[in-house]
Amino acid sequence: MSNLRGAYIDLAAIRENIKVLQDLAKNSEVMAVVKADAYGHGLIPVAKAARQGGATWLGTALLEEAIHLRKSGDKGRILTWLGSPKDNWQECIDLDIDVSVSSIEIASAIIGAAKKSGKSANVHIKVDTGLGRNGVMPNDLADLTKVLEEAKAAGQINVVAVWTHFALADAPSSPTIAKQLEVLDQSFKFVESRGFKNLMKHAANSAATLTAPNAHFDLVRPGIAVYGITPGGEVGKASEYGLRPAMSLKANAALVKEVPAGHGISYGAEYVTKTDTKIALIPLGYADGVPRIAGNKGPVIAKGKKFSVAGRVCMDQFVIDIGDLDFATGDEVVLFGDPAKNEPDVEEWAKASQSIGYEIVTRLGPRVPRIYLNEI
Ligand SMILES: *Cc1c(COP(=O)(O)O)cnc(C)c1O
Repeated sequence: MSNLRGAYIDLAAIRENIKVLQDLAKNSEVMAVVKADAYGHGLIPVAKAARQGGATWLGTALLEEAIHLRKSGDKGRILTWLGSPKDNWQECIDLDIDVSVSSIEIASAIIGAAKKSGKSANVHIKVDTGLGRNGVMPNDLADLTKVLEEAKAAGQINVVAVWTHFALADAPSSPTIAKQLEVLDQSFKFVESRGFKNLMKHAANSAATLTAPNAHFDLVRPGIAVYGITPGGEVGKASEYGLRPAMSLKANAALVKEVPAGHGISYGAEYVTKTDTKIALIPLGYADGVPRIAGNKGPVIAKGKKFSVAGRVCMDQFVIDIGDLDFATGDEVVLFGDPAKNEPDVEEWAKASQSIGYEIVTRLGPRVPRIYLNEI
């Protein structure tokens, strides 16, 4: 029997989740956000499944993620939005990757690259409508569009869209959402007034795709929902929207043994057995992305029963106290997966780690093999 240890990625779930999101945003195109190695699920297989599910766009943060995607053979529309001046803008332009601009410095880098490329760059103007992160401040939009107008006249750029990102989309009741949409609308109209035509408008991440139809516009940009995980906050469970988690993290016990009552478990003996009991050693640790802070907390299913990590999570391994469970060395445990299959929800690991589902899946390390199911 082969080793079970790994993250199992159900590509059928990715395809179906894209369809669910498309149904929610019927009149919009869907961009599957595949940054950070597709949220730890694996960039290339996930991108392929997302395309099969109907995503007409793929989105990445870093330029090199987009370049890697294109070089892997992806033929569809790709947008990348987080570059600094010395990044390889020219390769993006050569490879027909749309780029985002938030400043004159980046506009200059893009324009310089377009001159060298001999092609015009497809540019999305990102506006800081209130997130306070990337994006041009509305007050600086006039100066930025002036630079873009000249570059357009010279055939170096083509402005495709005006776009933004929400600060509090996971709190649908927050008044900041309407406020940000108002600033986006004003910015959009301003850019149009400068002679840019046929512009797209986009704003919605997963939370807004699920809860804010008035923010869907031409394109929605879900990330975490594609993987069947809730953005958290007030959004509720992913299953309430018909989304299903794609990833299950599993391992075989490396050792099962009996220990007496009063036995300290793992470094620091932060767990001490209360009775004579059995412990199982699980070969996944913080080097694999199991959060160390989840010691004595993280949930684990063995033979359908739920246990918690006993004591500290170590670099390569942790222990569970399984009492008198009928369980042997080599038997299977599940850290998280699909709650509909009685696997812990990744949200439980997020809570046990004072974190969010996003971090739990993206931090899984390269020592965890990704095993793909239902690839077509
Ligand atoms: C990461 C990201 C998304 C996707 O966010 P989710 O909350 O995962 O849906 C969308 N747009 C931008 C700009 C992002 O950085």
